[in-house]
Amino acid sequence: MRRLESQLAGNKLDFLLISHLANVRYLSGFTGSAGALLVSDDGAVLFTDGRYIVQARDEAGKVIRIVIARKAPTLAAAEWLAARNRAGRRWIGIEPESVSAGLRDRLVSILPGKQRVRSAPPLVERLRMIKDREEITRIRSAVELGASLFRRARGKIRCGTSEVEVAAAMEYEARSRGAESMSFPTIIASGARSDMVHGRASAARIPRRGFVVCDFGVILAGYCSDRTRTVHVGRPSREARAFYDAVLTAQEAAIVAVRPGVRAAQVDAAARRVLRRAGLARYFTHSTGHGLGLEIHEAPRLAAGQDQVLEPGMVVTIEPGAYIPGKWGVRIEDVVVVTPSGCEVLAPAGKELVDV
Ligand code: ZN
Ligand code: ZN
Repeated sequence: MRRLESQLAGNKLDFLLISHLANVRYLSGFTGSAGALLVSDDGAVLFTDGRYIVQARDEAGKVIRIVIARKAPTLAAAEWLAARNRAGRRWIGIEPESVSAGLRDRLVSILPGKQRVRSAPPLVERLRMIKDREEITRIRSAVELGASLFRRARGKIRCGTSEVEVAAAMEYEARSRGAESMSFPTIIASGARSDMVHGRASAARIPRRGFVVCDFGVILAGYCSDRTRTVHVGRPSREARAFYDAVLTAQEAAIVAVRPGVRAAQVDAAARRVLRRAGLARYFTHSTGHGLGLEIHEAPRLAAGQDQVLEPGMVVTIEPGAYIPGKWGVRIEDVVVVTPSGCEVLAPAGKELVDV
C-alpha cells in the first residue's frame, strides 16, 4: 500500500479507485465478493456492503477505514468522493479492465465536474508481479498440493473411464486436502481430444491408446497452482515418444532461459526454437507461460513481443505444447520462481513419459 501511494503523484492521480477484487484483496486482505478500495496519499478507505460488516473488520479493519454502503461499493466510493469535493481539479484513476462502460458513465455522473475520471495504468498488477517471501511460501504449498493430485489421476486413467471421472477424483482429493477450490476447470483431454489446448474434462471415455493431457490447479490460502502432465495410455509409438520428447526438450530449454534480466519474449523464443527444429513450430499455438499468484493468469505473459524484463520474485508457468489437429497433443507445465541466479522449479518431478 505504501509503495502504491508513493506512485500516485507520479502518475498524476489524486485518488485511485481499485475495483478489481484480486487487487482489493492484495492491498487490504479483504476477501469478500463486493469491495472497492479508494487509495490516496491520506490513506485508504474500503467500501463494502452489509453482508461483510464482520468479515471486513476482521480481515482489513486493523489497517484500513471501512465504509459499509447500501449500494455497489464502487458507486459508494464515488459518492463519498463527491461529498468531499474540495477546491481545484482532482484526478480519480480507475482500473479500466474491471470497470464496464456503464459503470464508468455512472461514476462520471456522480462526481462533480471538478473531479475527473481517468484510466490508470496497471499499478497494482505491476506490484503484484513481484511476490514476497510469504506469497512464495503460499504458492509453493499450492503447487505441492496440486502436484500430488496427479498421482490420483494416474491411478484413475484407464481405457473406458470417462474424463470427468478422472477430474472428479482429483477435485475431491484437492478439497479433502484443504484446497479452497480448483484454480480453473480441470482439463482432462484424452485421445484425439488432446489436440484441443483447453479440452475441459468431458463425458468422453479414455481410449485404448493415446495421450491424455491433464492440466489442473488448486487455490490454497488464496494462491493458485497450475500444472500440466501428459501421460500415454498403452505403449507409445516411436512417433508419439519423439513428439513428447520434443515438447519436454522445449519446456526444459525455456526453464533454462529464465533468469533476471531476460525479457519475457526470450523465454518464449527458447521454447519455440526447439519445436521449430523438431518441425513442430506451427503446432505450438499458444504462449509459453504466464504469471500466477492470487489469480491464475497474471503479469507477466511469456509470449512473443513481451518485453517485460524478469526479476527475482516473479512466479511464472512454463508450458509449451504441440497439438496436431485430429491426431493428438502434448503439453508439459511447471511453475517456476525467478531467483537472483536463475529460477527454481516448484515440485519439479514426474516429467518422463509414463504409459498407464
Ligand atoms: Zn495449466
Ligand atoms: Zn498455465
